Amino acid sequence: MAVYLDHAATTDVRPSALEAFVTASATGNPSSLHASGRGARRVLEEARESLAAGLGVRPGDVIFTSGATESDNIGIKGSFLKTGRNRVLVSPTEHHAVLDSVQWLGQQGAEVEWLQIDSDGVIDLTSLRRTLDSDAASIALVAVMWANNETGTIQPVEQLAQMCAEYQVVLHCDAAQAVGWLPSPGEWLAGPATLAISGHKFGAPIGIGALVAYQTTPTQLSHGGGQETDIRSGTVPVALAAALAQAFAEARADSKNDRINALRRELENSVLELIPQARINASGAERLPNISSITFPGCRSDALLMLLDAAGISCSAGSACTAGVPRPSHVLLAMGLDEADADASLRFSLGWTSTSEDIQALLAALPAAVERARQVRATVVGRA
Ligand code: PLP
Repeated sequence: MAVYLDHAATTDVRPSALEAFVTASATGNPSSLHASGRGARRVLEEARESLAAGLGVRPGDVIFTSGATESDNIGIKGSFLKTGRNRVLVSPTEHHAVLDSVQWLGQQGAEVEWLQIDSDGVIDLTSLRRTLDSDAASIALVAVMWANNETGTIQPVEQLAQMCAEYQVVLHCDAAQAVGWLPSPGEWLAGPATLAISGHKFGAPIGIGALVAYQTTPTQLSHGGGQETDIRSGTVPVALAAALAQAFAEARADSKNDRINALRRELENSVLELIPQARINASGAERLPNISSITFPGCRSDALLMLLDAAGISCSAGSACTAGVPRPSHVLLAMGLDEADADASLRFSLGWTSTSEDIQALLAALPAAVERARQVRATVVGRA
């Protein structure tokens, strides 16, 4: 059986979420007025209430979407159109769902400005404060993720939210990796904000997520039946929404963080012992307990990934959405790694089903894979 260390790409569906999906799969369109429709509507609104309660927001703030990519698109483009302002401030370590949405705005005439980060990928609040102080009225939104999908770096969202709230600038926060691991965002939301949530990162099936629109309403981007308060038209997948709410409730109740943090510590300490040249990325930052980005100097990540795969270990050479494209991680480059090191890095990510046996299997396979990947690279470089 393959050892799965790629839970940040997608994690196991929780059985209770599957059960909620099946139970809620009765016939009925939640927009229909008859009894079946009303039954479906009831299930949908219960799911919304449960999700909202766990997130610490109002049910009316929750819009069901297909996942974080769609939520990022609506949050960013919809907020930009809403304000009529022209500047967008964005962190360089964002997921492509954010980066490409912002880049698209740039092609439409928006002024895109990169926020400064340190070598762990943490936002420089002082320079953001300076930018806001100088001309906040021209800023449409600030986009900074809650936690990074490649390194696990957690951003100081509480201060960010407060700064943006002071100026009533919308904060778009991609919360795809953080939700299910970190406390409720209701604890730090302070002013207008949009949050992107992805169900399959915490045990819901793939294909359901949410946008939280807190003290703001993004402009409608797609048009149709007017579901989800006009922001996301299309028949709402009731059974998936029920599964999302159940998975989230269980992820919150599951006190897994200490156990997973201990497994990650075991992984990182042992890797450093076995491969002394290895380096843990963002180790100086506060990180999610489940993600570890490690650089193996002298290797190429795609070769190492395939060698580990052949040994039955699944991990990632970057974010799943950009894997397959042989480019060094933009996140690690933005943190100051050079191309060779950024291209020599793997992400191991744990999830609610991870065990110590998974870590032991990785440690058993890793030294030989690193050795072989180094030889491959040396041969390729030698030939060039
Ligand atoms: N944002 C982040 C930080 C992610 O890690 C991911 C998925 O890898 C996404 C957005 C996209 O999420 P989804 O698959 O729900 O569209």
